[in-house]
Amino acid sequence: MRILIRGVAVIRKPEEGVVPKVDVVIEDSRYTGVVVGGGAGGEFDRVIEGEGRLLIPGLVNAHTHLAMTLFRGYADDLPLRRWLEERIWPAERKLTPEEVYWFSLLGLAEMIRAGTTAFADMYFFMDEVARAVEEAGLRALLSYGIIAPTPDRIEPELEKAEKFARSWLGKAGGRIRTALSPHASYTCGAEVWRETVRLAKELKIPIHTHLAETQAEVEEFQARHGQPPTLWLEQLNVFSVPVLAAHCVHMTEKDMEILAAHGATAVHCPTSNAKLACGIAPVAELLSAGVNVALGTDGAGSAGDLDMFEEMRLAALLGKLKTGEPEAIPAPQALALASRGGAVALGWGKELGTIEEGRRADGVLLSLAAAHLCPGHNLLSDVVYAAHPSDVVGVFVDGTPLLLEGELLTIDEERVKAKCRQLAQKYR
Ligand SMILES: [Zn+2]
Repeated sequence: MRILIRGVAVIRKPEEGVVPKVDVVIEDSRYTGVVVGGGAGGEFDRVIEGEGRLLIPGLVNAHTHLAMTLFRGYADDLPLRRWLEERIWPAERKLTPEEVYWFSLLGLAEMIRAGTTAFADMYFFMDEVARAVEEAGLRALLSYGIIAPTPDRIEPELEKAEKFARSWLGKAGGRIRTALSPHASYTCGAEVWRETVRLAKELKIPIHTHLAETQAEVEEFQARHGQPPTLWLEQLNVFSVPVLAAHCVHMTEKDMEILAAHGATAVHCPTSNAKLACGIAPVAELLSAGVNVALGTDGAGSAGDLDMFEEMRLAALLGKLKTGEPEAIPAPQALALASRGGAVALGWGKELGTIEEGRRADGVLLSLAAAHLCPGHNLLSDVVYAAHPSDVVGVFVDGTPLLLEGELLTIDEERVKAKCRQLAQKYR
């Protein structure tokens, strides 16, 4: 399959800005031509007109719980602890594999429409999530979320996590990779973490967890263990494997040094953190400490939606509020966090995150026709501060179109929505 996107404006790398009138050639799964000025030759199976459009690297949602689309609007305006303990955990005990499958498809439809090409997910009934991802065509780092508050839960939870990680690693033509996910330092003890590190090393896969999300969590952990969770995890050698640490809102300088020294990723989830009033993660400080930062929505149950444009915009806005400096987290940096930062976090840093010859062809085509993108002085700024998911007209993963001219090509959206409305009745 040879695709030409003709005469399109392109953001090859955020720091480079926008390059006008480029012919972009996609051959099988990769970009094979990025011809500035146009003039790419040869035969093409499909030609997409790029006039009045902008191609950007695929957006990466580096922390979510996809099937929690089931809990969108289910328990809003509550603090994290009450949200989890009184509303979400009791509801999750009633979850079935069928529900996880259909609400994963719902989340995948929403993500494709919002220009997300890859994501990191941790949840339950992960075989169903993986099946949905395989069908929908996205790229994903998937893991079973281990919660083992009592010793009797340790073995069965680890078994489930290991079985899933082994069976889906490298599946769906390499689009699915797996990770191990102890839910957090306060829901999993030292034994779980030690065993997880051992297994992650054996399988050469990352660990994806929640870290320092609320002040209360960090204070309680400190009181119980005499040290903050990041230091405790370091002593258990957790950072000797690649780590995606979601949230990182309440971090000491030493915590940031630890993440930086080990090449771990802090996944900033600004909507979820704001909605649960957790605080604002010190993104500018994390970046200057040398930490890789990615962006995530968290689950739709806590964030409301799975919109990476919103996360990019909030990362830029909250970064300025947090530091008191309007120069903090400028638009190119916000876009880099949402694309390349996420690609690095998911372990695809060498193959994804930019639009260059030889890279895997994950990309998002935006229409520039809407009033909110006019007059277009700086299209990169507009992507961060003004664009909406409704501007997305094309989405490619590994060179395969998942959305073209507004039409989802891999998911029967009406059928999925109807099924999800029906399944949600149980939770009314
Ligand atoms: Zn989460």
